[in-house]
Amino acid sequence: MLVTLIFGGNQGDRKALIGEAITEMSSIGKIKHCSSLYETAPWGFESPDSFYNQIVTYETNLLPEEVLNKCQATEQKLGRVRTGSQFCSRTIDIDILFCDSQIINTTRLTVPHPRLTQRNFVLTPLKEIMPDFIHPVIHKTITTLFMECEDTLKAEAIEKCRI
Ligand code: ATP
Ligand code: CA
Ligand code: CA
Repeated sequence: MLVTLIFGGNQGDRKALIGEAITEMSSIGKIKHCSSLYETAPWGFESPDSFYNQIVTYETNLLPEEVLNKCQATEQKLGRVRTGSQFCSRTIDIDILFCDSQIINTTRLTVPHPRLTQRNFVLTPLKEIMPDFIHPVIHKTITTLFMECEDTLKAEAIEKCRI
């Protein structure tokens, strides 16, 4: 299965933390695509600390729930503190965007990620690495979803992928 993950954070050494998280997640399988590193203002809440984001795909033999376990273990290892509020500052957040073209709706996991179509910080790096991928629920390409997205926060590429 090709799993697409987004890494993000706005606390601490953002670039180093994302790099460490990407490396840590390599235990699930081989990296296939890697977007540039992007910088975006916080989405859904106010903070002076901007976010860095990067999207990576991995070829894995694990099940989606097992990938989520590894994402959450990696967040813990890299010092994420869960505060209870949904949109908040954090050292590292790892979300599953896609698992091939599977549609998953369990208590722990919704794939494709339900809010990705509302977020330029997701669609901009996604468009860089998989512009023609068709969203399995909405049946539109990433390029079309990006053009139709009404998010006004811009995601700016600040560094090419160095993996
Ligand atoms: P958002 O999901 O809007 O980006 P968030 O990443 O800040 O918000 P979290 O507090 O990190 O939200 O996660 C809340 C819960 O979301 C997790 O406990 C996890 O079980 C669940 N979840 C559901 N679908 C996914 C997914 N596709 N990727 C990661 N977590 C998911
Ligand atoms: Ca998230
Ligand atoms: Ca998350």
